[in-house]
Amino acid sequence: GFSLYSTVPGVGERTLIAVKPDGVQRRLVGEIVKRFEQRGFKLVGLKLLQASEGILAEHYHDLRRKPFYPALLRYMASGPVVAMVWEGHNVVRTSRAMVGDTDSSQAKPGTIRGDLSVHISRNVIHASDSVEVAEREISLWFHTGELISWETSDQCDLYQV
Ligand code: UDP
Ligand code: MG
Repeated sequence: GFSLYSTVPGVGERTLIAVKPDGVQRRLVGEIVKRFEQRGFKLVGLKLLQASEGILAEHYHDLRRKPFYPALLRYMASGPVVAMVWEGHNVVRTSRAMVGDTDSSQAKPGTIRGDLSVHISRNVIHASDSVEVAEREISLWFHTGELISWETSDQCDLYQV
């Protein structure tokens, strides 16, 4: 439909969020989706998938020499993942704040990791850490046809449009 978004810079920013296999096993998908919905972000892509070794190796390419890397790939392949793309103003930075510290034991209460997990090796969620990385991760996990551009009816309540 008719778009008013162009008047608000950065509203079209997107990030990749993934509920990791421990989060899916622990039935935390709804809780995590709820937090992004209620914050005011827009869901533009969502799927449950068993991540292939290829996608995980590319996703965690920068960590391939870390001692925890083999265990990380086993963990990420241990069951289905819920991959999502969320859109909104400053969504990359805001979602990192919502997710909390990588080490769950350091993550502040009120954050997803700080409320829902206790250890760095099972920290329930992934969030892209920069806009450039988000673009790369979104194209790795989603085909363009799987992402839906749509207008939310409450955009005037969320943004000055
Ligand atoms: N990780 C781990 N042990 C570590 C550091 C990281 O198991 O000592 C895992 C953890 O699942 C983390 C992921 O590797 O979420 C990616 O690490 P990164 O530093 O990118 O943290 P994130 O961006 O997820 O906060
Ligand atoms: Mg990271």
